[in-house]
Formats: sequence, structure tokens, C-alpha cells
Amino acid sequence: MKVLVINSGSSSIKFQLLNMEDESVLANGLVERIGEPAGRISCSLNPGVPDGTEISIEQEVKDHQCGMRLVVETLTDTNQGVVKKPDEIGAVGHRVVHGGEDFHMPTPIDENVVAAIKNNIPLAPLHNPANLDGIMVALDLFPAISQVAVFDTAYHQTIPDRAHMYALPYEMYENHKIRRYGFHGTSHKFVAGECASLMSKQLSECNLITIHLGNGCSMTAIENGQSIDTTLGMTPLEGLVMGTRCGDIDPAIPAFLYRNNGMSIDEIDEMLNKKSGLKGLCGMNDLRDIHHAVAGGDKRARLALDVQTYRNRKYIGAYMAVLGRVDGLVFTAGIGENDAYVRSESLSGLECLGINIDHMLNNQSIKKPTLVSEPQSRVQVWVIPTNEELAIARETINVLRAG
Ligand code: ADP
Repeated sequence: MKVLVINSGSSSIKFQLLNMEDESVLANGLVERIGEPAGRISCSLNPGVPDGTEISIEQEVKDHQCGMRLVVETLTDTNQGVVKKPDEIGAVGHRVVHGGEDFHMPTPIDENVVAAIKNNIPLAPLHNPANLDGIMVALDLFPAISQVAVFDTAYHQTIPDRAHMYALPYEMYENHKIRRYGFHGTSHKFVAGECASLMSKQLSECNLITIHLGNGCSMTAIENGQSIDTTLGMTPLEGLVMGTRCGDIDPAIPAFLYRNNGMSIDEIDEMLNKKSGLKGLCGMNDLRDIHHAVAGGDKRARLALDVQTYRNRKYIGAYMAVLGRVDGLVFTAGIGENDAYVRSESLSGLECLGINIDHMLNNQSIKKPTLVSEPQSRVQVWVIPTNEELAIARETINVLRAG
């Protein structure tokens, strides 16, 4: 079966078409700057194959409807397309950021699911409407094809009350659904599954700490295969230090800035989400630039690295305490897969907890799942590339087969 994976953002549509017979990628691409005068679709058809084709077309893309039509035209192009007709696509899997408490697993889309995603818009005002746009357009374009919503939050719905409740007046939870939801669930679940099979175990037997370090960063404590705590909260702002997001801060700081610095609520929100994290500390949010600056003696860049890796270490210690026994620790996403320094600094001094990294293994360039701990390390340390599109395609197929 061929599965089309859609990740619809406010001004973009990321897409990937996979052949699930062998999990090969038939096409992957991006429609961007939707709604602006100069839009663009770029797409690789049969990437990884020697005669694969790259397409890049600049044109106005008025709205998501036009964007999705372009995707379908590109995939079905008579000369270079990878499917002859849209109905060769067996299913569509949609990434949806916030499922609130309504979704514990990927779910086939019907009108109730659409209504529930709408209901959760207050929890993700930037993301859910854009995800919903993608769903509505795809339902319209592919009325006969099964479509599945795969939620970033669903994997974390097993987190027990004691870990997902904030110590706020209980009505805040009852009236406004304020609690920890967690995000990056598809990625955490995917690398956890890969790690279990690499350790020749069932996921349901494994206690793991998975560390997703990309532009957004999060860590999850996994007990017997289930998420029992995670660092991102009601929104994707809590926890680790991210590219531009602050992670944990004293919750009194926004009120302080409002009262003493003349900032509006929107300005504070923007500062915490877009001007903080690594960027706030040193002006850069790409680790490659930060390392370059550190090599040139930039003290702020050094500080940013120190603050991020210290926070990682602190949460690893916390999740070791939460889990008791830990079989494996997994680094993934842009920084986790590529940055040997961040990995080793995040684990430095943790030998007392049974974590012994092998620096030679850790320092090599890593393109596939790799064990980077010493043989005597009680906790195995893995670097496992995440693949959220493949994870969504697999979830989509599993749900449809189960139904
Ligand atoms: P997203 O959350 O947007 O999916 P990614 O997982 O692609 O993010 O991670 C992007 C980040 O990964 C970049 O901002 C950069 O800091 C980091 N990164 C990517 N490649 C490298 C590299 N070779 N070395 C160090 N860091 C890298």
C-alpha cells in the first residue's frame, strides 16, 4: 500500500509518499509560503534512486486547497510522477499536534474526529487550525481514501496523574484542561521501538529515556514501553533548552516582565517562544554556528552550550530516579543525531548512574542506529535517527489494519 503523509503548517505543507511494501520513499517535498505572492513547491521524486527527479516550481499558492492540488499534480504528473492516479494512494496519514485528552492513539478521521481536533484549538492555537486545513482539503480531494490522524500528544496519554497535573487550583484543569500533554510523541515512540528491537527485547519490557533534540527539544521517561513522564507541558515550551524556546523558567517571570518591563502578554509570549533558548542566550540557534563561535572564543555561545547540556543532564538524572531501572538511553533528531559534544556533555559525570559513553564511538559520524556506550555500561546509550514520516505511515497502516 502507498501512504501519503501530510504535515500541514500555517503557511506550508510537508508531504511524503511511501511505498509500505518495502517502506521506500517515492516522493517527498514541501509547499511553502502559502498565501504569499511568491510561493513554491519543491519535491524529490524517487529520492535515493540514481534517476530520481528534483522539482522546484515558484508560483503563487493561494491557499491550502491550491497547495494540496499542486502536491497531487506533482505526484501524478504523466511524465515524471510516481503514481498514475490519486486512487493508487491507499491511505493518507496526517500529523496533528494537539489531541488533548481525546486521543490516546492514531485515529481514522471522521466528522467526530474533526470536531474533537477543533475543540482542542485553544490548546494549540497556532498548530491545530493549520493541521485541520490540511485534513479538510485532503478529505475533499481524496473522498474515497482512508485518512488517519496521528497526534503528537497521543503517546503521552499514559502519563499518570501525578506527573501530568500541575499544582494549580484544580478548577484550572477542570475548566481549561490545563495539564501536561507532552509532544514529539510520534518520534519518542518510534525511536523507543527501534531501540527495543536493537536490544532484542519487546518494547513492553523496556525502560528507556528518549531524548529528542532538534529545534524543539524534549525528553521522555518510558516504563515498560509506555510514556510515564515527558518534559514538554501543556504547550511545547516547558522543559529542556531549545533553539528559540526557553524551557523551564520560574513561572513568576512573565508577571514580573508585565509589571516592571512594560511588556504586553503577546510580547512576553513571543519572547519565550521565539527569542529565548539558545538564541536568547547567544544570538544563534543552530548548534553548528554555536560550535564555530565557541571555537572563536565567544563566551555567550559557550554559556548557551553549558546551559543546554546542564539542563539535559539534570533531566536525565530526574528520569533515572523516576524509572529506577533504565535499559537504554536514546539520542535523536538534528542535534541528538549529529552533535557528539552535546551528547557527551549531557552524560558527563553520570558514570555513577551506570552511564559510560565510549568517546570513540560517540565521535564518529552517525547515519544509522549506533550504540555509543562502553560494553560495561549498565545503561546502553544509542543514537537512533528519527523518522516521523515513516512512523506516521506505519501508524496509519496499523490503525487501518486493526479497524
Ligand atoms: P526540527 O525540530 O525542525 O525537525 P531538526 O531535528 O531538523 O529540527 O534539528 C534542527 C537542529 O539540529 C538545527 O537547528 C541544528 O541546531 C541541529 N543540527 C543539524 N545538523 C547538525 C550537525 N551536523 N551538527 C550539529 N547540529 C546539527
